[in-house]
Amino acid sequence: MKREEVLELFSKYKAYLEGHFLLTSGLHSPHYFQCARVLQYPEAAERLGRALGEKISAALGGEVPAAVISPAMGGLIIGHELGRALGCRAIFVERMDGSMRLRRFDLEPGEKVVVVEDVVTTGGSFLETVKVAEEAGCKVLAACCLIDRSGGGSKFSPALTSLVEVEVVNYRPEDCPLCGQGVPLVKPGSRNTVKKGF
Ligand code: ZN
Repeated sequence: MKREEVLELFSKYKAYLEGHFLLTSGLHSPHYFQCARVLQYPEAAERLGRALGEKISAALGGEVPAAVISPAMGGLIIGHELGRALGCRAIFVERMDGSMRLRRFDLEPGEKVVVVEDVVTTGGSFLETVKVAEEAGCKVLAACCLIDRSGGGSKFSPALTSLVEVEVVNYRPEDCPLCGQGVPLVKPGSRNTVKKGF
């Protein structure tokens, strides 16, 4: 899928919004991603998973991993669809007592895995997921996400492959040009209790 196709799909389901948004960090942004909005449609989720799978497969020279591993909750659905696309298990880590753990699944030492997340901004949860896999003795073949807002996935180890890289534009409220233009500020999910991830 081309960048425009991905963004069109996100826009269609209001998973990619352009406007003037109050982020949970307190910063203002002209765009907002809520992957759950597009992933709630199984056919769209499958299509995105297949597109990401094609990229990962090409990067791995066709090698099939033992499992796809993603951080809950945000990574669950795309993890499932990427597992379908690559023909392997799809498992997830979840936060318990402050750290990501593999609670419901087993990984065997030596297994090769691919880490996937929906949106990567700081890279925190995806790097924690990589760590869980490595501590289980697994080799992380690749890491990927739908939307990379990190400002360049190559700074991570392993490097991050994404369907779309989006320039990070955030403003402090006092410097925000949208506030200056009087554009109404929207707090995403304030009515629908949508938070980051799910
Ligand atoms: Zn503003």
